[in-house]
Amino acid sequence: MDTSFVWDDHFVTELDAVDEQHHDLVNLFNELSQGLFSKRSDREVVLADTYARLLAYTNHHFQEEEELMAHHQIDDRHVQSHKSMHKQFVEQVIVLWSQRTTMTDPATTLVGFLTSWLGLHILGIDQSMARQIKSIRAGLTPEAAYDKERSAHDNGTQALLKMIGKLYTALSSQNAQLALANQTLEDRVASRTRELQAANAKLQAYSRTDGLLGIANRAYFNERLEHAWAMARRCGSPLGLVMIDVDCFKRYNDRYGHLQGDVCLQTVADAIKNSALRETDLVARYGGEELVVILTDTDADGAHDVAQRMVQSVRGLRLLHEASPVASYITISAGAASKVPAATPWSARDLVRWADEALYAAKTAGRNCAVKSACDSLNVGAGER
Ligand code: GH3
Ligand code: MG
Ligand code: MG
Repeated sequence: MDTSFVWDDHFVTELDAVDEQHHDLVNLFNELSQGLFSKRSDREVVLADTYARLLAYTNHHFQEEEELMAHHQIDDRHVQSHKSMHKQFVEQVIVLWSQRTTMTDPATTLVGFLTSWLGLHILGIDQSMARQIKSIRAGLTPEAAYDKERSAHDNGTQALLKMIGKLYTALSSQNAQLALANQTLEDRVASRTRELQAANAKLQAYSRTDGLLGIANRAYFNERLEHAWAMARRCGSPLGLVMIDVDCFKRYNDRYGHLQGDVCLQTVADAIKNSALRETDLVARYGGEELVVILTDTDADGAHDVAQRMVQSVRGLRLLHEASPVASYITISAGAASKVPAATPWSARDLVRWADEALYAAKTAGRNCAVKSACDSLNVGAGER
C-alpha cells in the first residue's frame, strides 16, 4: 500500500494558515514513515521524538482550526461535529501507536491511517468549514452559511465522504475497544502470573520444610548438600557437617508422652537453629530425633566449635528429662566432620558418614558432647577408602 500523500488542488482550502499546517502535518507523517522503515540503532529514540512532535503539532493545528471557527462564529452544528472528529483522531492515533509493536506492518497501518484520515478530513469537513467562512465573509449569517452548505453540497461526493467518515468512526471505536480488551487481558495475565509465582514459591518452601520442626527436610538437605559439596570442590574450600541426635529420647517419650516429645523436639530444633549463625548454614531434620547442619567454608575445628556450641545451648535449655541416665535435662550428642572436596575421590555421602561416625563416637563417649571426625586428615591413595 502506498501511504504517501499526494497533494492536489482539492486539498487547498484557501485558508493560508490551515493549508500551511496541513502541509506541515503531511511532512511529519512522512518523517514518521521514514522512521518506521529506518534501521538506525537509535531508531526508537528518533521515532519517539517524531511521534511526540506529531501529536503536539496535531493538537496545535486542531486548536487553531477551532479558534478560526469560533472567530467566524461558524454554526454550532458544524463546530460540534468538527471538534469531535479532531478528538477522535487524537485518541485513535494514541491507541494505534500503543499497539504498533503488535502490528505486522506498522508503517503501512499507521501512516496509511494518518494520511487517509487527513485526506478525508480535508476534503470533507475542512473544505466545508472553508466554504462557510467564505459565505460568512460574503455576508451570510453562520446559520445560513451552514444550511447553504448542506443543500448545495449534498451531492454524491459529500455523501460518499460522510459514509467513509462513519466507517472510520465505527472502525476506530472497535479498534479502541480491541486495544482496551488486549490491555485488560495483558494486565490479567500479568497479575495471574504474579499470583502463580507467589503460590509456587509457597509450595516450594512447603515442600522443603519439615512439618513438625519448621526447618529444612531431608530431601532439601540432600539437595543443598550436593550443591554445597560441588561449590566447595570448585572453590577449594572446606565443607563442614554436624550430625546431632537427641540423647535417650525414647525414654523421654515413654516418660512424658509422644506429644510432649514433639514439643521438646521443636524447642531443641529452635535452639540448634539459633546456634547456626551464618546465613549460609542450613539446619535440617535428618530423620526422627536426628538433625544435621551444613556449614559452608568451615574446617574441622570450626565444625567442632559449632557442634559444641549446639550441645551447650540444648543443655542450657534445662528441659527436664528425669528418665535420662545422662543428666536430669535433655541433652544431645553431636558429630562434626569437615573436608575439602577438591581432587578427592570422596563424595558428599562420605561426609555424612564421617559425621555419623563421629556422632556414634560421642554417644559411646557418654553422650552430651561433640566429637570431631579425623576425616579432614585422610589422604588420597593412603588406602582409607
Ligand atoms: P540415644 O541416646 O542412643 O540416641 O537413644 P534414643 O532413645 O534417643 O534413640 P532411639 O533411636 O532408640 O530412639 C529415638 C526415639 O525418638 C524413638 C522415636 O520414637 C523418637 N522420635 C523420633 N521422631 C520423633 C518425633 O517426631 N516425635 C517424638 N515425640 N518422638 C520421636
Ligand atoms: Mg536416633
Ligand atoms: Mg537419640
